[in-house]
Amino acid sequence: MNSTTKRNVVKGTAGCVAVGSELLGDAKLDLNSLEITRTLETYGFDVVEKRVVGDSVERIAASIRELLDGCEVVIVTGGLGPTADDVTREGVALALGRELFFDPEVEVWLQERYERVGRTMPEIGRSMAMVVEGSEIIRNTAGSAPGILVEENGRLLAVFPGVPWEMRSMVESHLKASLEERSSGRIRRSRTLLMGGVVESEVEGRIRHLYDRFGRDNVTILASFGALRLVLTASGTEVEATGDLDRMEEAFREILGDDVAGINIPGLAHVVVPALVVSGQTLATAESCTGGLVGAALTDVPGSSDAYMGGVISYSNQAKEEMVGVPQELLIEHGAVSESVARAMAEGVRKRFGTDWGLGVTGIAGPSGGTDEKPVGLVHWAVASPDGVAARHREFPGDREIVRQWSVNVVLDLLRRKIGGLS
Ligand code: ATP
Ligand code: MG
Repeated sequence: MNSTTKRNVVKGTAGCVAVGSELLGDAKLDLNSLEITRTLETYGFDVVEKRVVGDSVERIAASIRELLDGCEVVIVTGGLGPTADDVTREGVALALGRELFFDPEVEVWLQERYERVGRTMPEIGRSMAMVVEGSEIIRNTAGSAPGILVEENGRLLAVFPGVPWEMRSMVESHLKASLEERSSGRIRRSRTLLMGGVVESEVEGRIRHLYDRFGRDNVTILASFGALRLVLTASGTEVEATGDLDRMEEAFREILGDDVAGINIPGLAHVVVPALVVSGQTLATAESCTGGLVGAALTDVPGSSDAYMGGVISYSNQAKEEMVGVPQELLIEHGAVSESVARAMAEGVRKRFGTDWGLGVTGIAGPSGGTDEKPVGLVHWAVASPDGVAARHREFPGDREIVRQWSVNVVLDLLRRKIGGLS
């Protein structure tokens, strides 16, 4: 890294380069760097820059050089395979001003990899046996293309294949140990509080005064249409970070109370299903505007069959009448998108499936179908149980996709609150 010695490396900083012309098009997104970032952050490294570059030796070399000029750790993925568009090895050599040489030992190892799966290594496979002078080769146990590790002037350059599971196996086998050594026991941990049915600006107002206490950078709000994630972060030793996170969680919970649905869970269905299973209760759903998305979210949770009996996509009025027993008079008098119909759907599906809980949701997802009285985005939903029926409604902003996402989250949130005996 002769060309990079002029500037001082910033300790604890990291950069990522995703190589692949396909990542520049409209069909494929760089996802590898998300996983790498997660690992880097766990070891207390700040990702300060990410790049996506096409399969060009010069561009790859320039990106690596520029990121190494200031970052302690640079991780590159992609372009290590045997095909003509895989030029990352040459890019690394050019960036570092080092030679590439053919390593017969690596070739033998590669030939064995191919033979093990009953194939003969093609001639082009030999390019994977080219090694950057002075680098460590990472043998690929999940595929064939070897990875590269170079340490110099206090910096680490790690290069992994683009195939996600091959990259992952090298992150596990090599990157984590290197990062741990560099971070000298300092790690970063995060904890995510999931909330349902809340609005970002309102939550922000309630918690703003805690920012000073815990540091603005240690609290991130990620809002997504009816589900909100509050990500708390702390660094230090394992014990220090865990202690800080416990204190933060307590302070936030004190303010947010029952609006917090759970910790480190992927979605609201992951609260609803366990709550039902633990109490031995069952659920059925009648969906209109969500078209089965609520059922999909519930069945996403492993073990949901113990609690979720099934659902009906009662989209048309006829289906609402025939499948879940919504009285025709209600549909005529109030219309399909109304509180009475949402209630009737929840009660009707509960009866039909013989479950403890029933859920109904009906709305106008748009773009057409709205009126002055019932605009696009209006959604009614209801939850029925032996104790009665609770109904809610709201006008959600956004397009069809967004209205449907809001709907899924708010119905699951109402359900979670009712099952938990909350207001
Ligand atoms: P090989 O050619 O041996 O499979 P490689 O290192 O050359 O490995 P690429 O050819 O760059 O890897 O990519 C292989 C596959 O991995 C492709 O399907 C590509 O779309 C996917 N991939 C590559 N980089 C990324 C990335 N940053 N995020 C998500 N997928 C990626
Ligand atoms: Mg390739």
